[in-house]
Amino acid sequence: MPLSAPRRSRPFTAALHRLAADRDPGCLLDTDGAFLFVNDAWERFALTNGGGSRCTASALIGTRMLDHVTGDAPRRMLRQLLERALRAHVTQTSECNGPDVARLVAAQLEPVTTGGGAPVGIAVVYRVVRERPIGDVYPLEDATSRSWRGPAGLEQCSTCRRTRRPDVPDEWDLVPGLVAAPPRDTQFGCCPRCLALHHGETAAEATRASSRDA
Ligand SMILES: [Zn+2]
Repeated sequence: MPLSAPRRSRPFTAALHRLAADRDPGCLLDTDGAFLFVNDAWERFALTNGGGSRCTASALIGTRMLDHVTGDAPRRMLRQLLERALRAHVTQTSECNGPDVARLVAAQLEPVTTGGGAPVGIAVVYRVVRERPIGDVYPLEDATSRSWRGPAGLEQCSTCRRTRRPDVPDEWDLVPGLVAAPPRDTQFGCCPRCLALHHGETAAEATRASSRDA
């Protein structure tokens, strides 16, 4: 994608080169949170983690990260996270499970600024903190053991990757088959536990924001 003139600043290009050389998944966002670049490690990770073609560079570049998140609270929290990351380094640790691996990942967000300190983007790198066999962490459910599709389709938490039980909506199960190959129309959101557990700080901010909005 051609970069517009202000984005050709040296810090921006330097961030791009750092991300391209990084062995961990990473991306570069503009100040609106739109993808400008994803590195090779991101593409490899997406393909092994059930992300499929929707997570590749060709699908993401030019779209906003926010456009890929559903639910008011998760969207508000991501917006706040990106706003904070335009001003200072932010690390957010959360689950990022795969079909075989329970993974804890630290997302490191770094503002990219001009020499004068004006933000021109955000560099994001995902570092693995811990990996364990998924069966050691979660009881596993079979994709064929029940129907996982409710009236609104199949719902999966984009963080822990558990799938919501349509008949018991408060229950979320780890279904490796649906993590490896989620149906094309899967709705990715955030389960209540991940909201509370991994986004506690921003969740509190979101609550304050929503009470201010009210
Ligand atoms: Zn979750």
